[in-house]
Amino acid sequence: MKRKCNDIWERIVELAEGQPQPEASAHLTTCTECRAKFGELGTMLQGMAVPHFKAPESLLQEAKSLMPVAARRMGLIRSSLQLSGARSENQDFQAVYGADDLELRVMYSKVDRGWDVIGQIPNPLWSVARGNKEIPVDSEGRFHFLTKTLDDSSFSLDGGQLRLEVPSATEAIREPGNDS
Ligand SMILES: [Zn+2]
Repeated sequence: MKRKCNDIWERIVELAEGQPQPEASAHLTTCTECRAKFGELGTMLQGMAVPHFKAPESLLQEAKSLMPVAARRMGLIRSSLQLSGARSENQDFQAVYGADDLELRVMYSKVDRGWDVIGQIPNPLWSVARGNKEIPVDSEGRFHFLTKTLDDSSFSLDGGQLRLEVPSATEAIREPGNDS
């Protein structure tokens, strides 16, 4: 990508989302490289409207690398543990975390050696990681990982412009001000 393309890329993404971006439109008429990526973007955004999606990896990486990252910590909105009023250490439960407009439902399932933590990314632009280790996401955007204890169940979602830290279930449920 040329320098000019980098500068205008965010606007091209907005154009693909349906926002009027005359400068981006003008650039597309003169740049075959961006025109091709714009086509891919359109396909990708259409894919996001349906449950099955697979976005071109190279494009996602490129889109991510060009955008400044803001990090936010997700807070617990509700969990089935609070609803039941009991905190069993050996029972499956769900938790819903939120930050900005995003809500993320996570299921904690008791397995032999600990817990299976299961969730779904908000859309195909996102990736999931525990520490520096990326967690694989399936064709429907679902991911899961095993952890020995709930103390060690934190993970993060990377949406390119936005990085969301999901606290460990233990920490999230313990925090004050979460019982609304
Ligand atoms: Zn270009």
